[in-house]
Amino acid sequence: MTTVSINDELWDRINQAVAPMTLCYQCGVCTAICPLSGTGKSPSVRKLLRSAQTGLVASSSEAWLCTTCKLCEFTCPRGVPIVDVLHALRTVGFSERKVPPRLEEVLWKIYESGNPWGEPKKTRAKWTEGLGVKEALDGVDVLLYTGCASSYDARLQSIAKAVASILKAAGVNFGVLKTQEKCCGDAVYQSGEDAYLEELVTENIDTIRKTNASVVVSISPHCFNIFKTLYPKYGADFRAVHYTQLLADLLDSGKIKLAQPFETAVTYHDPCYLSRYHGIQEEPRKLLESIKGVKLLEMANSGDNTLCCGGGGGRMFQEDAGERLSNIRIREASETGAHVLATSCPYCIQNFEDGAKTEGKNMQVSDVAELIAASMRGG
Ligand code: SF4
Ligand code: SF4
Repeated sequence: MTTVSINDELWDRINQAVAPMTLCYQCGVCTAICPLSGTGKSPSVRKLLRSAQTGLVASSSEAWLCTTCKLCEFTCPRGVPIVDVLHALRTVGFSERKVPPRLEEVLWKIYESGNPWGEPKKTRAKWTEGLGVKEALDGVDVLLYTGCASSYDARLQSIAKAVASILKAAGVNFGVLKTQEKCCGDAVYQSGEDAYLEELVTENIDTIRKTNASVVVSISPHCFNIFKTLYPKYGADFRAVHYTQLLADLLDSGKIKLAQPFETAVTYHDPCYLSRYHGIQEEPRKLLESIKGVKLLEMANSGDNTLCCGGGGGRMFQEDAGERLSNIRIREASETGAHVLATSCPYCIQNFEDGAKTEGKNMQVSDVAELIAASMRGG
């Protein structure tokens, strides 16, 4: 006979955090739609919801498989905030010390070095050398939040350089926090560690306030999302925008001047944290179509139906052997006949470059900002 343990604390905590989970009537649509089923590594979403509803002890390891892409939420007939429920399960998992070891390492590295890889604080702004980028703490209108990936990864620094060069050419009074910038807290949030998250967010808000910036523009959709949705709960009063929104405004006001045509077919991948989380779908497409010669081709799944690259929800820092979502997406991109796969998220870029190699596809993977910057400078 199996003994079933009821965890009152689990039920109270989750119900308090996400009361609408009681709406779930166990239809299983979420489990069926989860794109991870195509990789053989999907969580049993319906069962996790059942555990949360009843207070049965959850198998928390499954909650960590989710990339937080929200496709299931968009499909759920009852409007259950599934990702919030899974997050609540993660916070319980964290309190029971059941965090995947890789994520626990990431937490320590953020605590000690301010970034998930334990890179030295003093090299965080190395990418700005020779670019004449202002120190934001001297006072700016717009703070460019580089984010950890674009600060340290040699490939992804190219995106930060592209965004900075565009803002400079457009005459925006912006700066970066340089060595004072720290992780936005997304990886901490995804691990379910609420106490340190509060400490980090509060510290970041204090630092950002010292810049006098009224707008914080992020390169990563993950930084943008946490700035927009979580920081106001801790008192942040700045306006959070993603760089594609700011560049689309600059394009409309004639401050972005494109010189070089780019005669090629491009397909655009919607990052989940822009398209499904915030409805940002038009701005990146408008930017791409402003480049003379670009022919935009849509993939089978785009906009609200975009297919996750596999990097959200802390998955970027965990092992992902076998078939990956990024491999599936590369095949979809290739089917459009496009030569360039453009996107607007550093995690997506990294996953798709790996995916293109694995799939043996000769496809250029570029960030929208890189294509705009290249067109502005004439090649
Ligand atoms: S969360 Fe929504 S889609 Fe999933 S089982 Fe419950 S009602 Fe169905
Ligand atoms: S958010 Fe995405 S990855 Fe997570 S369970 Fe839902 S569909 Fe699957």
